[in-house]
Amino acid sequence: MNTTVTDQALQGLAGLLNRPESISTNDGDLTEHAFDWWPVASALKKQGKAIFKPEVIVYPNNQAEVSRILKWANEKLIPVTPWGAGSSVVGGPLATAGGILMDVSSMRSIVAIDEKSLHVKVEAGIIGGDLEDYLNNKGYTLNHSPQSLHRSSVGGWVATRASGQFSSKHGNIEDLCVGLRATLPDGTEIILDSAPRMAVGPDLKNIIIGSEGSLGVITEVTMRIFPVAEKRLFETFIFPHLNSGILALKAIMGNGLRPFLLRLYDVSEARHAMKDNSFSHPVLFIGTEGLKIMADAELKACADIIANFGGKSIGSSGAAAWMERRFDFSTIEKVLAKPGGLAETIEVSNTWRDISKTYEALKAAVSPYVDEVLCHFSHAYSDGVSLYVILIGEEQSAAKVERQLKNIWEIANRTALDTGASLSHHHGIGLARSKFFREALGDGWQLFSQMKKAIDPNRIMNPGKLGF
Ligand SMILES: Cc1cc2nc3c(=O)[nH]c(=O)nc-3n(C[C@H](O)[C@H](O)[C@H](O)COP(=O)(O)OP(=O)(O)OC[C@H]3O[C@@H](n4cnc5c(N)ncnc54)[C@H](O)[C@@H]3O)c2cc1C
Repeated sequence: MNTTVTDQALQGLAGLLNRPESISTNDGDLTEHAFDWWPVASALKKQGKAIFKPEVIVYPNNQAEVSRILKWANEKLIPVTPWGAGSSVVGGPLATAGGILMDVSSMRSIVAIDEKSLHVKVEAGIIGGDLEDYLNNKGYTLNHSPQSLHRSSVGGWVATRASGQFSSKHGNIEDLCVGLRATLPDGTEIILDSAPRMAVGPDLKNIIIGSEGSLGVITEVTMRIFPVAEKRLFETFIFPHLNSGILALKAIMGNGLRPFLLRLYDVSEARHAMKDNSFSHPVLFIGTEGLKIMADAELKACADIIANFGGKSIGSSGAAAWMERRFDFSTIEKVLAKPGGLAETIEVSNTWRDISKTYEALKAAVSPYVDEVLCHFSHAYSDGVSLYVILIGEEQSAAKVERQLKNIWEIANRTALDTGASLSHHHGIGLARSKFFREALGDGWQLFSQMKKAIDPNRIMNPGKLGF
């Protein structure tokens, strides 16, 4: 692999782009793109260690430019790392081998809205919140609402197999993305559409969904859109024990109810979620939506199930307040702002049978290294649920934070796999989990490595990720 972009190569690259400002070797730009939102990257930044600095950044303006750049880089064996908005929390868009960083943020147009079929087609670099605002003005919504809605791109969602806060009702990105356009490393363009549903061989867009920039660059995405719900209702419940809350979630999903908001907090996180340090119960935030008659009926049915498991309503305000601050990340940001602040988020999933085992094991495994371990269960399914763990602590220096976080990731990844949990529910693999990726894929690794060989034989795409 050629990791040095020579002056001559830079000239060649510039010749592929229509505008001179679409290429940058400015040290400030390169350094800015050496860090994403992975807390390890934040610790590196505090130490002035820009070890993931690319050699050059390109900002393509259209698919044709993406195609020309990839074809050229493939011939010259120069690595290319795609960058959406850099909100990855696992080091996904960090350039591990120098080369070209392809920042698609200039490709952010809304290509078409099809109100007859309820689809919107966008360029991949558009920020999710900008698209959602555009749709809301027309009476529609994406029903995909990650906490990072306003700081992540639609192409990034597809690349990471992302999940929104309302997934229990509306599904994850693979359910909401019905088509995509991507460019492979040899410059070939592929358009993969599957609306509304097809039985025409495998659904090939799922090879690109979750590929984390390792197979090509997503240039366009078609998403389902939905009319904004007529009514939203909220309720907050407390439980005598965490396990009764978990059983209530299972019964709600098992009975076919689909509240759009369904989040169960253990006591440690409930204290933060309820803004009350003496709060002493696990707490559940529920929200139902749709036609008023459905939202009312669904909330009533959920409340009946919850009562069967000893849950008690404490009113709507806790859940409604969460809804208002659902994009707020300040608790973590404040910790990360301290010189030795340590904060991390780890999300996995498991079946209803084993999720409590994962919760207990993960909590016990990471607790010795931090001051606080906060956990909640969200993204529920008929057969299981995601567990989200937040770690907060403080070390004497950023160097110690870096070491401690790497240690924590090693332990957490091992524990997740040993308890039969998925390695990740929605943040993806990136660098935080790359060592464990092959093991987690199991028999799928053989298939995936053959695909990689066929699509990216020179391994120029996002080196160091997804097991390569
Ligand atoms: C405060 C905060 C809250 C978050 N909340 C959520 C959440 O609720 N749900 C969730 O799923 N995630 C969440 N995340 C994680 C992150 O926002 C997602 O992983 C998001 O999908 C990444 O999008 P991005 O555009 O920022 O991609 P980047 O971070 O730039 O890149 C992520 C990966 O995708 C690849 N990639 C990006 N764009 C393309 C493209 N066009 N073509 C090919 N590959 C590409 C990159 O190479 C990299 O491997 C959160 C992050 C933060 C900081």
